[in-house]
Amino acid sequence: MGKGINLKVNKNRCKGCGLCIEVCPQKILIISRSFNKFGYHFVEVANGDCKGCKRCAIICPDAAIEIFLEQDILTKTIYKENK
Ligand code: SF4
Ligand code: SF4
Repeated sequence: MGKGINLKVNKNRCKGCGLCIEVCPQKILIISRSFNKFGYHFVEVANGDCKGCKRCAIICPDAAIEIFLEQDILTKTIYKENK
């Protein structure tokens, strides 16, 4: 995972459609062998260098991926301070 990037997959929202795997330029998303509580194989993050591009989160039809970038938090803080 890149520095300042925190990516979380909500495994019980994931239906294992594989769209996020297709769009990830770093090819670090994989389908787990395990099942979630609805019986789907869910997506996991393998070791690799996530760039925080958010393509996976944007394409996911089930909003199963959340990405927090330190950079976004800092930008919001600066924006609030300047208001
Ligand atoms: S944010 Fe970009 S690089 Fe990181 S896992 Fe998602 S698609 Fe891949
Ligand atoms: S796009 Fe969403 S639902 Fe589909 S495999 Fe990825 S995380 Fe799961």
